[in-house]
Amino acid sequence: MWIDTHCHLDATEFGGQHLEQADAAAAQGVGMIVLPAVAVDNFATVSALAAQRANLCYALGIHPLYVAQSADDDLERLREAIVQALPDPRFVAVGEIGLDFFIPELQQGPLRQRQEHFYQAQLKLAREFDLPVLLHVRRSQDIILKYLRRISVPGGIAHAFNGSFQQAGHFVELGFKLGFGGAMTFPRSLQIRRLAAQLPLDAIVLETDAPDISPAWLHPAPNHPDQIPRIGEVLAGLREIPLTQLAQLAQATSANAQAVLPRLTRS
Ligand SMILES: [Zn+2]
Repeated sequence: MWIDTHCHLDATEFGGQHLEQADAAAAQGVGMIVLPAVAVDNFATVSALAAQRANLCYALGIHPLYVAQSADDDLERLREAIVQALPDPRFVAVGEIGLDFFIPELQQGPLRQRQEHFYQAQLKLAREFDLPVLLHVRRSQDIILKYLRRISVPGGIAHAFNGSFQQAGHFVELGFKLGFGGAMTFPRSLQIRRLAAQLPLDAIVLETDAPDISPAWLHPAPNHPDQIPRIGEVLAGLREIPLTQLAQLAQATSANAQAVLPRLTRS
């Protein structure tokens, strides 16, 4: 069984075919797909979608790129949504949260401060409710790590990991796994491919980030959660694991996901 640890299955790019996507992935052996939320607006959407298939579960959080349009009291609404979701076994983490410094306007000034405020507040919610976090980390590895050292949460996943080996080591020390997906399928992604090949296998989880980060064979068409086994084959190739051992690779990466998202075993 494979696990897609990061998929925006509620996205409009799927043209309403959300459940068909989940079923197509299940037919390919994707036994679980984690749906992160991005803003208060879509909390109800991801939880309702996850309720409709056995291979879906969800997280609740405010994505760094949605912080600018979020209201101050959205953090309180997130807290209320978490309290409500706690009895639901399909609710597995706080996410997607983090810091995105890709665009210059986000690197400084009020938008940067607001991102840091929302990130810290959401880490505190994860700590309060003893929940793992799904992290969006773009040009922000060291600051993400700085806050993780201050506000200790029970680990989680650094999604679409694209840092150094040293930063990878720091995330692992703090109880995190690192998400690898479509980016690893491009020959020019030298650093990501080196990480995927050389990091300890128990640090790695798989993800699509669908409909984004399409693998090389789909690009620029939208990505789908049923691509996970083929992405897993790329990981096997990079690590020189024979394809006859693909089932073991699926099992190992899925066990890694379950280790950091313990509620997955209940859902
Ligand atoms: Zn995402």
